[in-house]
Amino acid sequence: MRIILLGAPGAGKGTQAEFLKNTYGIPQISTGDMLRAAVKAGSPLGNQVKSVMESGGLVTDEIIISLIRERITADDCNKGFLFDGFPRTIPQAQALVDAGIDIDVVLEIDVPDEEIVKRLSGRRVHPGSGRIYHIAAKPPENPGKDDVTGEDLIQREDDKEETIRKRLEVYHQQTRPLVEFYKALAAKNPSLRFVTISGLGNIEEIKSSLKKMLS
Ligand code: AMP
Repeated sequence: MRIILLGAPGAGKGTQAEFLKNTYGIPQISTGDMLRAAVKAGSPLGNQVKSVMESGGLVTDEIIISLIRERITADDCNKGFLFDGFPRTIPQAQALVDAGIDIDVVLEIDVPDEEIVKRLSGRRVHPGSGRIYHIAAKPPENPGKDDVTGEDLIQREDDKEETIRKRLEVYHQQTRPLVEFYKALAAKNPSLRFVTISGLGNIEEIKSSLKKMLS
């Protein structure tokens, strides 16, 4: 099963990805996570992409396409994969088509911009483990501290409100056009399904509408 998750940053792609990867036994491939790991490791790639990521802009298509090309050759992709945060531009989507990489399902998670701002600006992360909290929806037991280690939580640079607004602008300009791209592709290709679900409501509600859609 090859799935693409589409949706604005903060729409809940990562959360739903968890459920989908367990259901289908496929790896979640998040270009954002791969790039953050490179930044953390201080690799040449990380140094190259750090400032554009912090500003909320997009990394070049060439870098992303070569990361993905390599990643999907790994053994764990035998049964398929789940793309989370890729493709983000028409050239990235076109690169998949050109490489003959067929997709089974494109799933759009739809959430209004103002809800996204609320969600992301309240997000806090434990840098050591990647555990994620939210100051309103999922607060830690002690404000600002990780539940397991008691260490400080941080706000990701790209979760600051000004950066979120920039990321949403980038999303509408560069990524949202993929909805029409994949709808048109699905209309021509019966083996590709395009599905939209609302990303409002709690995680369980979204999960159950997702299950219904995919059954
Ligand atoms: P994410 O965690 O998916 O929101 O990604 C964090 C940041 O990584 C984005 O704001 C971009 O700077 C960069 N990034 C992740 N995936 C892509 C992609 N497919 N194309 C371009 N830039 C990306």
